[in-house]
Amino acid sequence: MRIDVLDYYTKEDWKRIKAEAARHETPFLVVDLGIVKHKYEELKELFPFAKVYYAVKANPAVEVLELLRDLGSNFDIASRYELDRVLSLGIDPARMSYGNTIKKATDIAYFHSKGVNLFATDSEGDLRNIAKEAPGARVFFRILTEGGETADWPLSRKFGCHPDMAIDLVMLARELGLKPCGISFHVGSQQRDIGAWDSAIAKVRYIFDYLEGEGLKLSLINMGGGFPANYISKTNEMTTYADEISRYLEEDFGNDFPEIILEPGRSLVGESGVLVSEVVLISQKSSMGVDKWLYLDTGKFNGLIETWDESIKYPLYCEARGEPTEDFIIAGPTCDSQDVMYEYFRNPLPAYIKTGDRVYWLTTGAYTSSYSSKEFNGFPPIPVYYINPQTPQQ
Ligand SMILES: *Cc1c(COP(=O)(O)O)cnc(C)c1O
Repeated sequence: MRIDVLDYYTKEDWKRIKAEAARHETPFLVVDLGIVKHKYEELKELFPFAKVYYAVKANPAVEVLELLRDLGSNFDIASRYELDRVLSLGIDPARMSYGNTIKKATDIAYFHSKGVNLFATDSEGDLRNIAKEAPGARVFFRILTEGGETADWPLSRKFGCHPDMAIDLVMLARELGLKPCGISFHVGSQQRDIGAWDSAIAKVRYIFDYLEGEGLKLSLINMGGGFPANYISKTNEMTTYADEISRYLEEDFGNDFPEIILEPGRSLVGESGVLVSEVVLISQKSSMGVDKWLYLDTGKFNGLIETWDESIKYPLYCEARGEPTEDFIIAGPTCDSQDVMYEYFRNPLPAYIKTGDRVYWLTTGAYTSSYSSKEFNGFPPIPVYYINPQTPQQ
């Protein structure tokens, strides 16, 4: 079945994106900031009790950061470079967290000197560095969670520690003069199983209870990201995520919710982007070959790295009309044999697609532009064009 663009964009949004796209030569990314605004407002409405810390890494562009600054968002920051950029936009460090558990002592000192006072950790070495370089800071502890099988881009292995270790670290933090405030987790990006939050929240409840027995009251749950963007693999609606997750919280915490933080990246910015590419070449490897290769002017090294292992299945849309469709192996333009986006997952495209036709990669607003390499094979980073939010018409 061919992709229907209206399953992904409203008619008006698509019209605006197409009009912007018509003005540029491929490849490039169009980001519609109105969609980001809508997604932020929707999230605030669905989780009225939560504070949003935008995961800057998903799209660190100034245009996105300024929009979210003005909407009142907070920011989850992973490096001193992200910090410098967010600070340069006049954002109060009280609205920031240092969410990366992998950091140098000098980076901790830098964040502390700039006024950031909320740190994530998952190990004793890092915790001791925080105690030394950011004395008295608020710290939350990241635990390992399940859900790696049902997330399209798992995040729990490199990050997080066992709940028992988190308990030890909380008690050590108190001894070290820090303010241990809560527990965090990330159930994996593009998490399709909402139940992953259920078991994570239950672990947090266990940790809270255990520590209360030790005279230590935690007051924060950072539920990370993992909320979906609209790709080919179906997910539930955001409203279903919100209803279910709120229910899990109520089951474990009654009406007395701790402070709740969400750190969305993909779900806020993913759908705002459309990467526009052009067919460079269509070929076959032998006269009897059954596979057709479709080479585009953008690939894994120009923004599509999340096709790694064919993890994220972006919807591809091509204007060339009519049936039949054909399945192509889809590859990028560089001289690297890894620069193949889809070989096993086949995205149906019009059989009569030809060199020069445009192929639109829908839902590419997250984890694309900032992942684009600087000059591999000389290709420049992918240009990005922003559409400002529309003022409502009378
Ligand atoms: C990447 C990241 C996020 C964002 O995750 P999404 O699945 O894109 O929403 C949130 N928190 C932390 C700590 C992250 O590293």
